[in-house]
Amino acid sequence: MPMAIVVLGAGALDTARRIQARFPDSRVHGLASRVNADIAYEDFGAHLRDLYAAGAPVVALCSAGIVIRALAPLLADKSVEPPVLAVAHDGSAVVPLLGGVRGVNVLAREIGAALGIAPAITTSGELSFGLCLLAPPEGYALANLERGKRFVSDLLAGETMRIEGRAPWLDNAALPRADDARLAVRITPFAASDADSLVIHPRCVLAWIGETAPEDDIAERVRLALREQGLAPLALAALAAPVRHMSSESLADAARALDVPLRFCDAAPFDVGHARDVALQVHDAPVDVEAIGRARGTLTVIGLGPGSVELMTPAAHNALAAAQDVLGYETYVRMAGPFRGDQRIHMTDNREELQRARHAFELASSGRRVVVVSSGDPGVFAMAAAVLEALDKRRASHPAWSAVRLAIVPGVSASLATAARAGAPLGHDFCVLSLSDNLKPWSVIETRLAHAGEADLVMAFYNPLSKARPWQFDRAIEIVRRYRDAATPVVIGRDIGRPGECLRVVTLGELKSDLVDMRTMVIVGSSTTRVVGDWVYTPRWYEAD
Ligand code: SAH
Repeated sequence: MPMAIVVLGAGALDTARRIQARFPDSRVHGLASRVNADIAYEDFGAHLRDLYAAGAPVVALCSAGIVIRALAPLLADKSVEPPVLAVAHDGSAVVPLLGGVRGVNVLAREIGAALGIAPAITTSGELSFGLCLLAPPEGYALANLERGKRFVSDLLAGETMRIEGRAPWLDNAALPRADDARLAVRITPFAASDADSLVIHPRCVLAWIGETAPEDDIAERVRLALREQGLAPLALAALAAPVRHMSSESLADAARALDVPLRFCDAAPFDVGHARDVALQVHDAPVDVEAIGRARGTLTVIGLGPGSVELMTPAAHNALAAAQDVLGYETYVRMAGPFRGDQRIHMTDNREELQRARHAFELASSGRRVVVVSSGDPGVFAMAAAVLEALDKRRASHPAWSAVRLAIVPGVSASLATAARAGAPLGHDFCVLSLSDNLKPWSVIETRLAHAGEADLVMAFYNPLSKARPWQFDRAIEIVRRYRDAATPVVIGRDIGRPGECLRVVTLGELKSDLVDMRTMVIVGSSTTRVVGDWVYTPRWYEAD
C-alpha cells in the first residue's frame, strides 16, 4: 500500500511534496475543491477512513485533533492499524499517532529528517531502548502482540532481559540485558508459548508444494505440515512450486491465505526426499525469497486517462506503484512518472506497438511485474489490443506467455474527457472512429462514415489528422456533410486534461482541417445535438418520425 500524504489546502502542498520526495511511491491526496494534487478526494473524514481501512500509511497535514476525530469510529478494531501521523501544514511538527507496531516511529523519524525537525515520539519503549521491540525488521514476525506489550512494560518497570537466538538488529539497542534475566527475547521458528518470553519468528521455513490438485486445500496441508514439526505458521517464508503449476489458482489462493510469497522453480530447491505433496526446509536465518526460483510474472495494461493525474484511476496508480518495469511510448511514460530508482523504464517509439507488447511478455514471463501504459483507455486504439494480438500470434511457440497474469485497467478515454468538458454531446447513441488509415483501408473509413451519418449517430473521431495523412480529414467531413446540417454543433478538444488544454465549439459548416491535428479529438453532433450557453449536449430522447 503506497503512503497517502493528505492535504486540505494549497498551503500544505509544499510540505507534502518535501515528504513525498523522501517516499517516491507515495501520493499526495488533495481536497478536490481547494487543491490540485495527485489524487483528489471530496470528503476529508470519509477519505481518511477509507485509507485507514485499506491499511494505507497515512500522513495527514493538519491538526492531530482532526485526524483523531475522523478515525475515532474505526479505532476499536486493532487488527488493522496502519501508521498514522499528523504533520503541521508548515512542516514544523511531526506527531506519530497510531501504528506503533507497524513502524510509525520509524516513519516519524524519516519525515522529521526530511523536514529538518525532531519528531514528537511519545512511546516509552521506543524512547528508552531506541527502537520498538514489537516491530522487528523485515524477515521476522512478532508471535503475540498482547504478550509483547506486557513484556515491554515489564522492562520499563525495571526488569532485565536476555536474548536467545540470533537478533542482529538488537545488537546496538539500549536494552537492560542480564545473563540471568527471567525475561527473554526468543528468536525461533518453533511455536513457543512461555509467558516470560517475547517470541519472534524468523521467516526461515520454505514449503515446497510438489503436487497440487484443484480441489486441495493447500494452505491447510501446509499448516498441518508445520504443526507436525512444531513450527510456527509465522515462520513460513514462502511457498515454492514447479513452474508447470504457475497458473494454478489454488496455489495462488494458498499463498494469499498464508500471507507469503509464491515462487516457481524448475526443480525442487532442496532435497524433498519421498514427500509427494508438502515438504518443508528450515533455514537458520530468514530466507531470501527473491533468490528462490521466480514469481509468476504479471502484465498489466493501464490507461492513464487524457493527461492530468486526477483523471487517472486509483487502480492505474496502484499498478504503477507495484510495477518493476514500465513500457510505453515516451510521451505517455513521462506522463506516468515520476518513478522510483528500482523501477526500469522502457520507452519506445509510437509505432512499435507489437514489438513493445512482445517485450512486455518476455519480461513478465521471466517473473517481473510489468506495466504497459496507454493514454486514455488502453482498449481504445491502444496497447491492450496489441498485447492480446501478440499473445494470439505467439502463444503456441511461447507457452510461458500464457502463464503470465494478464490484466487490463481501464482509463478515461479522450472522447469521454472531451465530451465532459463540453457538456454531454455523447448523451445519446454515438460511435467512435479512428480516421487513421495506417491500419485499415481508407475505403472502410468512408463506408463507416456514410453509415454513421445515415444512422444519425454522434461521431467521435480519434486520430483526425497527421502530417502523413493530409487530405483525409477534409474528405471525411465532406462525407459527413451529406447527412448533417451545416449548423450541427462540433466539439474540438485539444490536449484535454494536459497543459495548454483547448476546447472549441464550431458548426459543421465551419469545420476544416486547419482546426485539428493529432492531439485533437473531434465530436460531430447528430441532428438533435444542441448548444445551451457554453454547453453542448445531445438529449436522451428521440422524436419518433
Ligand atoms: N487510447 C487513447 C486513444 C489513442 S489514439 C484514448 O482512449 O484516449 C490517439 C488519439 O486520441 C489522438 O490522435 C487524439 O485524437 C486523441 N487524444 C488522446 N489524448 C487526447 C487529449 N488529451 N486531448 C484530445 N485528444 C486526445
